[in-house]
Parts: sequence; C-alpha cells; structure tokens
Amino acid sequence: MKRTNVKIHAIKKATEKESEAFKAAAKEFEFEINDPDFWYDVSRVYNNWHHRKLLAPYNYEKQSFKLFKEMVLSGVDDFNKEKDYAIDISVSFYYSWRSVVGYTLPSTWFTWVNRNIFKGFDLADIAGNQAHEYLHNCGLDHPGTDRQSVVYRFGYLVKDRIKTRLGIAPKVVYRRSFWTRVKSFMRAVFL
Ligand SMILES: [Zn+2]
Repeated sequence: MKRTNVKIHAIKKATEKESEAFKAAAKEFEFEINDPDFWYDVSRVYNNWHHRKLLAPYNYEKQSFKLFKEMVLSGVDDFNKEKDYAIDISVSFYYSWRSVVGYTLPSTWFTWVNRNIFKGFDLADIAGNQAHEYLHNCGLDHPGTDRQSVVYRFGYLVKDRIKTRLGIAPKVVYRRSFWTRVKSFMRAVFL
C-alpha cells in the first residue's frame, strides 16, 4: 500500500500553540489512514446501509467501499485533482461563542476552526475534525448534523482510535450544578 501523507499548506490566524497542536494532530491522522486496521473499521461503517444512506451526494450510495477508500487515500479532492497521495489541509482560526467546532464551504478547500472550542480539544479531537472536514473537501456531506452519517463516523473513528492508541482518557463530563440547571431552565422557558 502506497503511503498517504497529510500535508498542511496554511495555518492562518493561529497562535504558536494552536499551530503546533494542529500539526501534531495531522501526524496522528496520517498514522491512522496508513493503518490497515483503521480501514477495516471504516469498512464496517461504510458497508452498513444505515450509515451509508446518510452520505450525500446520494448517488454515492452506489459507490463501493474500494472506490471510497481509493478516493480518500489518493488525495484527489475537489480542489486538487492530482493523484498525489497527499491529503491537503488549509485552516484558518476564528472566534465564536457558539458551540460550533468549525466549518468549510463547497467553494474552498480552506476550513475554519473555532478557537473557543479548539482550546478544549486534545490531539485526537483535532485529528477527528481534520478527517471530517477532509471528506467535505472530497465533495461528501451529511444531512443536517446526523452523527450516524459516514462523514461523522469517519471522524469519530479517527478520534477514538487515536485516543486508544495514545491512552488519552475520555473527557470527564461535569454534572451541572443545581443553579446552572435552574438558570438554563428559566432561559428556555422565558426567552
Ligand atoms: Zn460536516
């Protein structure tokens, strides 16, 4: 199997720390996509009709796993048609108080990352996001924010496998205090 590289072309509006974390995460993403075990896990998701029917454009339903894998590994995306075995990433940081990780647009291979969410991310979380956004650059999408879709699942696989491999403990989910819950209830009712 030919090795596929993850190539970062630009990191804009990032601090030194954000930039370093982004680059280190790309190395972990690269490790996963070159691991046959990773692709075994992906095939189980991809060949599951429930997940695949949530993959847009919908004519992709007919696409075989082999072709899907070849597309991802060849580095051919909507913005670089060259079969160079390089996954091209360009990112720009921004700030938003909303709990949105980031986004990309069909017209560009740039992705935008919300530093407000990014700051709580470990390497595995960042790599999972890179994987998700890369599938968008390949022209794939998910209906709404359906987390059962192939695009989400692909990102989660990258994330979960890296967490396991690096021994990153799962995040502690803090129980919200009584008053926080009362306040959010009041907001929901009165605003
Ligand atoms: Zn998405």
